[in-house]
Amino acid sequence: MIDKDQEYKLQTLAVRAGQHRTAESEHSEAIFPTSSFVFKNAAQAAARFSGDEPGNIYSRFTNPTVRTFEERLAALEGAERCIATSSGMSAILSTCLGLLEQGDHIVSSRSIFGTTVGLFNGILSKFGVETTFVPLTDLTAWEAAIQPETRILFLETPSNPLTEVADIRALADLAHSRGCLLIVDNCFCTPALQKPLTLGADIVIHSATKYLDGQGRCIGGAIVSSEKLIGESVFGILRSGGTTMSPFNAWVFLKGLETLSIRMKAHCENALDIAHWLQDQSFVKRVYYPGLENHPQYQLAKEQQSGFGGVVSFEVKGGKEAAWQLIDSTNIFSITANLGDTKSTITHPGTTTHWKLTDTERKDAGITDSLIRLSVGLEDVDDLKKDLSH
Ligand SMILES: *Cc1c(COP(=O)(O)O)cnc(C)c1O
Repeated sequence: MIDKDQEYKLQTLAVRAGQHRTAESEHSEAIFPTSSFVFKNAAQAAARFSGDEPGNIYSRFTNPTVRTFEERLAALEGAERCIATSSGMSAILSTCLGLLEQGDHIVSSRSIFGTTVGLFNGILSKFGVETTFVPLTDLTAWEAAIQPETRILFLETPSNPLTEVADIRALADLAHSRGCLLIVDNCFCTPALQKPLTLGADIVIHSATKYLDGQGRCIGGAIVSSEKLIGESVFGILRSGGTTMSPFNAWVFLKGLETLSIRMKAHCENALDIAHWLQDQSFVKRVYYPGLENHPQYQLAKEQQSGFGGVVSFEVKGGKEAAWQLIDSTNIFSITANLGDTKSTITHPGTTTHWKLTDTERKDAGITDSLIRLSVGLEDVDDLKKDLSH
């Protein structure tokens, strides 16, 4: 067991943090698939319900396996508190429901996960919360979009699929100078490559579905922050709204965290290799990857991240036909919109993840017909290159 008063490095925390061995002396973490918990007597039941005695009552509130995942991820992000949720989307929903009121306003990067745009525009708007979207890297636009009602600034960095990088520290300073919170969806980097809270962000969101599991098995999410900010407000939404993570999924994710940094290192190595190689191919017009020196935010990415991530996008010469032809002629790459898997995936954003946008919105966001997104997995990189050159 690790000592709570000692400081440990990330890889030690990833393997050890959050484990509470039971009387069975198991070496690997136990899984507790139970909906409820029993009390020694009626008085203990009453004390648990009133909160006088801490402890488990019901798995919609707390569960030991879920807690191990939460403590481990909190340790990796350098935070006091983590709340695990049933999906990445329910992490964002629970955060907004916990922190916002009718009439509040969000300023969000326009380059975020499509369903998050749908949540802000189509669902939160029904409850009187409006969102203004701005270009991720335009600090002046962020500043100009803040209103007296703004509570939250929301972003993902690097962005999907064009891998633009936002200056987290600058945006945290801006948010705080205007009385707002900065929320960073850290799905693309994970704490193995980027720790937004240490750069000034207030809350980190995860889709655990992606790299935290890393093997494409479960849906889950997490909210990471201080006890003060989320301990009652956001946790209250889980208790009453039921956006809770299942113990089985928590167990898969907490085992996934043990190999997170070695997987992320391998994803980064393979992705950088493929990005360099793509630049030299005659069928490629342009490559988007923060690890390339010609990337507009290369320096910032180098300072802010400890690796450039596993997502590489590129434009082929020719339009949609050429892009679809390349996608269809691969054998190893899975044609799927998911990312963050040991298995490499290939996507045509214009007709899948971003198909709902209008032509103008797509053009503004830089999503052309010839754009292809890769989530580079852990297969042998030479085999991946061969597959793409078919
Ligand atoms: C997938 C994803 C989400 C949503 O997560 P789910 O687990 O699918 O609900 C949110 N943000 C980003 C950046 C994602 O890639």
